[in-house]
Amino acid sequence: MVDYKYLTYETIDDGLISIITLNRPEVRNAQNRGLLVELHDAFMAAEADDAVRVVILRGAGPVFSAGHDLGSPQHLAERAPGETQHPSYSINGGTRLGTELMTLQEWHYFFQNTKRWRDLRKITIASVQGSVYAAGLMLAWCCDLIVAAEGTVFADVVGTRLGMCGVEYFAHPWEFGPRKAKELLLTGDSISADEAHQLGMVSKVFPADDLSEHTIAFARRITTLPTITSLLIKESVNQTVDQMGFSNALASCFTIHELNHSYWRQVNPSGIPHGTPEFGVPARADVLPVVPAEKGSVRAAR
Ligand code: ZN
Repeated sequence: MVDYKYLTYETIDDGLISIITLNRPEVRNAQNRGLLVELHDAFMAAEADDAVRVVILRGAGPVFSAGHDLGSPQHLAERAPGETQHPSYSINGGTRLGTELMTLQEWHYFFQNTKRWRDLRKITIASVQGSVYAAGLMLAWCCDLIVAAEGTVFADVVGTRLGMCGVEYFAHPWEFGPRKAKELLLTGDSISADEAHQLGMVSKVFPADDLSEHTIAFARRITTLPTITSLLIKESVNQTVDQMGFSNALASCFTIHELNHSYWRQVNPSGIPHGTPEFGVPARADVLPVVPAEKGSVRAAR
């Protein structure tokens, strides 16, 4: 078993099922660079292991993942130049300048890695709970199936909180539907696990206490299929949505996302690549809580 710093990797049922657990509960499993690099490594290990048939991705603690890490001490240390910097900041475009640097780094560590996990040669199940915000959605969406604990909420808050047009892996219209995607991005409001189930985004909703056990039972059921069958079912669906434009649309929207970053870098005197209070984006202390998207009110009371 490989020793990871930000996640755990284990196999059960004689290796049929591998379980990747994001393990930064103290920061709601926010995704720092170290975690993302380890996650790629863990997914590749599961793919390479011929015994593994189903991969479960889950998060330790009350929250699956609250998105990209924007402020933990580990994130700041691994980003800053010097001894503590993560090696990935000096490769894959990390030494380039401006838009080239940002586009290459986000392509490698936010976009293409997520696409690669979507195309994993194994069946993947995201098992989620708590708030699944912004880049938390990316980790759930790249899996073949999503199961959720009761009480889970899904939202992309980067529009209302950072002045960005959604996260790098822009699957929103495919998962929520075009109009719901616009509504949720323009308001930052959330949908519940039950609503996500109605949309077809979530397959099962379990009581929180049973999530782990039921996710494993669900995975076990899928392990009974011949591997060729499960792989070709996955591939048929993925190739169908690719024919409908999924992968090309994602690539286009990644470019639009980078245009949005470039705008902010250009207009912000400090070069910050997202919106700031002087442009109408709330300061961190003034950020309003995420509320459910309700049919009968402009902004839910909570
Ligand atoms: Zn970005």
